[in-house]
Parts: sequence; structure tokens; C-alpha cells
Amino acid sequence: MAGCVRGADSLPLRGDGFRLVRPERRRFFGHPELVSLLKSSAASLQTRKSSPLLLIGDLGLPRGGPTLSAHSSHQSGLDADIWYVRSRKATTTPPSMVEHKRLRVSRSFGAAELRVLQHFASQPEVDRVLVHFAIKRELCRRFGAPDAGADASWIRKIRPWFGHDRHFHVRIRCPAKSPFCKEGEPIPPGNGRDATLDWWWSAEARQDEGKNQHRQQNPVMPELPEACGQLLHSS
Ligand SMILES: [Zn+2]
Repeated sequence: MAGCVRGADSLPLRGDGFRLVRPERRRFFGHPELVSLLKSSAASLQTRKSSPLLLIGDLGLPRGGPTLSAHSSHQSGLDADIWYVRSRKATTTPPSMVEHKRLRVSRSFGAAELRVLQHFASQPEVDRVLVHFAIKRELCRRFGAPDAGADASWIRKIRPWFGHDRHFHVRIRCPAKSPFCKEGEPIPPGNGRDATLDWWWSAEARQDEGKNQHRQQNPVMPELPEACGQLLHSS
């Protein structure tokens, strides 16, 4: 979603329970509500001093706006990429949570990864969490039983997408004082364990996946809302 952000806050390179990965990309700016969610989440996931750290990747640029990178989102200060794997060491490439040949979760995906996803999807300020579709299916398999009831309502906010096998994407709701902020499409009712999830394994999905990869490798500048022009061009 194209956009921009005024009055963005920045996430420090490290803090209680987290560290930023790839800080040289300078995409550590976000809406103050996003920055505060990340800080409080990292601290609450840090149960012991020696607990592994939350590894946080891209948020956005100081005023938001397009970056010509893999994502067309990350423009309005509401999005953050978080690695599934937590670690105290800086690694350059996080492991994939998906066996790509079989399109199912890999052995790397375990209780710790699950806990982090559950944490974020359970936060009221989080609008949705994007994950690889095989991860969504795994969550439905483990928690999506019809009798799981309200306890598993967080699964609804976890949405299947292409990619997102090494990191997941958190998007927060439009903050109250952001009149120009536009919410994404509403999430359909139910936990998502239905024919729309099965679609991701179809031949049509494989075609779309190819197109999606092409778009990521050949990004085009999106058209921005008018209100962003002035903000992005001011110095
Ligand atoms: Zn992202």
C-alpha cells in the first residue's frame, strides 16, 4: 500500500530483548505506535536475561514512502518485518521455515517460532500478520479445530501470502489520530481454514507466485496519495 508518515519514531539498533538486523538499510522508522509495540513485545518475549533476541528487519524510511525494495508496503510506518528465528547472534540469512519442494513447514519451525507469531497476532493493535501459506496451514492444523473456540481467535489475523518463509510481516491498525490512514481489506470471518487456503497449493497459485517474484525483482514506483507529495519532497 503506497503512503507516507509524518512524525515517525525510530527504533534503536538494540534494546531490551531485540536487535535490528541490516541497520545499514536505514529502514528503522515507523509510527510511534509501531515502535512502541515492537519494544514492548521484545521485552515481554524476553523471559530470562539469556533468552534469544527478537530480530527485527525493515520498518520504513523516516517519512515513509516507496523504497523500491521487495515490498510495496512499509510506506506508512505501520509495517515491520520480523525474523521467525530468535537468536543472540547476528546472522546474515535466517533459515527458511518452509520446505519449498513439498510446500510444507520445515523442521526449523517449532514451539519458539509459534510463540512469537501467537504473541503478535494476539495484540489488539495488530491488524494482521503475513506468513508463508504453509505456515498458516500448519497453525490451522495445530489450533484450528472447531472446538478451539475463542482461544484460537488470533489465528484469524495470521494471513497466508507468498514468500515470508524467513520473516513474517506485522501490520498495525490505523492509529486513532491518523485521519488519512486507510485500513487494508477486512479479514473474512473464520480462522481461514477453508477453500481460500487450499488455493495456495493450486496451479494458478504457482503462476501467481512466479508473477509475484517477477514484480519483486522489477519493482515500479507506485502512485502516492496527494498528501504525501509535499511531505516527501520537503527537506
Ligand atoms: Zn514486510
